[in-house]
Amino acid sequence: MELKQNECKRCGHVWIQRILTKPIRCPRCKTHLWDKERISTLKNEITKAKTYLSDPEKKESAKEVIDALEARLNDRVKGA
Ligand SMILES: [Zn+2]
Repeated sequence: MELKQNECKRCGHVWIQRILTKPIRCPRCKTHLWDKERISTLKNEITKAKTYLSDPEKKESAKEVIDALEARLNDRVKGA
């Protein structure tokens, strides 16, 4: 039997289920938007990542993180 691991992007709850269909809601916080990150969370993470741009040792990895976060933010803004 295949097991699927889900992670709630709102409360961080991780749960395993046996059926492979997408769960309707998070069993812990009951949100229907468990697989959608909050736009404000993404924006906060981008702001936080940008503080590392002034650190020469972390600059390159910070850029990658920011690019990835901005792509996710764009998806969310488009309603994906
Ligand atoms: Zn949750």
